[in-house]
Amino acid sequence: EPALELRDIHKGYNHGTPKEVQVLRGVSLRVAQGEVVSMVAPSGAGKSTLLHIAGLLDSADEGRVILGGEDMTDLGDRRRTRARRDHVGFIYQFHHLLPEFTAEENIILPQLAAGTSQAEAARRARNLLEIVGVGHRADHRPSALSGGEQQRVAFCRALANEPRVLLADEPTGNLDPGTSETVFGALMDLVRETGLSALIATHNLELAARMDRSLRLTEGRFA
Ligand code: ADP
Ligand code: ADP
Repeated sequence: EPALELRDIHKGYNHGTPKEVQVLRGVSLRVAQGEVVSMVAPSGAGKSTLLHIAGLLDSADEGRVILGGEDMTDLGDRRRTRARRDHVGFIYQFHHLLPEFTAEENIILPQLAAGTSQAEAARRARNLLEIVGVGHRADHRPSALSGGEQQRVAFCRALANEPRVLLADEPTGNLDPGTSETVFGALMDLVRETGLSALIATHNLELAARMDRSLRLTEGRFA
C-alpha cells in the first residue's frame, strides 16, 4: 500500500467576498513506501495548502487522505493529532528550532514527549545528526550554527519520532545556492537511510529532477 494517498482533494478559501478561491481542484497522488516525490509550482499555487492537508494540519473540503493504508479523513481531533504525530514529519523553509536548547536537545524533546526513554532518544538524536554531518555540533545552540546547519538539525528533529512520511515545504528555500546543495544532499541521505517516503515542495528544478518523480501543480491539479 502507498505511504501517502490523496484522492480527489478539493480546497477553497473564502476571502470575505462571496466568491470562493478554489486552490485545489481535484488533487490525487500516491507516494509509495520509500519513494521521494517533488512538487513544483509557482508561489500561490497551493503547495502549502496541499502539504497541510496531507499532514492532517488542515482539512480538505472534499476528498480523502490516506496514510499508511488508513483513511484519516474523518478522524476526530484527538485521533487526528495522534495520527499526525505517528505518521508525519514536517520541514519548513525556516528551522523553527527552540533557541534555548542545544541541537541534540531539540531532537530529544519530541521523542520524550512521545514516550521514548532519554537514553534511546539521545542515541537516536546523535545518529541522525551524524547522518546529516553535524554530529560535531550536537551541543551547540541554534544561534551558534550556520543556516545550513540549523536546517539540517531541523530535518533530524522532523524524523525524531520515526514518521513514515516526510512533508517538506521549500526545505532549502532560505539558503544560498551552495548551502542549498549541501543541505539537500543531507536531506536525501536522511530519507534514503531511514527508508522514508517524502513529498518535497521546491522551486528548484535541479533539485526536483534528482527525486524519484516530479509533479507539477497547476490550476489546482497535478498536470
Ligand atoms: P503556495 O504554498 O503554493 O505558495 P498556498 O497554499 O500558501 O500556496 O496558497 C494558495 C492560495 O491560497 C493563495 O492564493 C493564498 O492566498 C490562499 N490561502 C492560503 N491559505 C489561506 C488561508 N488560510 N485563508 C485564505 N486564503 C488562503
Ligand atoms: P510557510 O512555509 O508557508 O512559509 P512557515 O515556514 O512559516 O510556513 O511555517 C509555519 C506553518 O506551520 C504555518 O503555515 C502553520 O499553518 C503550520 N503549522 C500549524 N500547526 C503546526 C504544527 N502543529 N506543526 C507544524 N506546523 C504547523
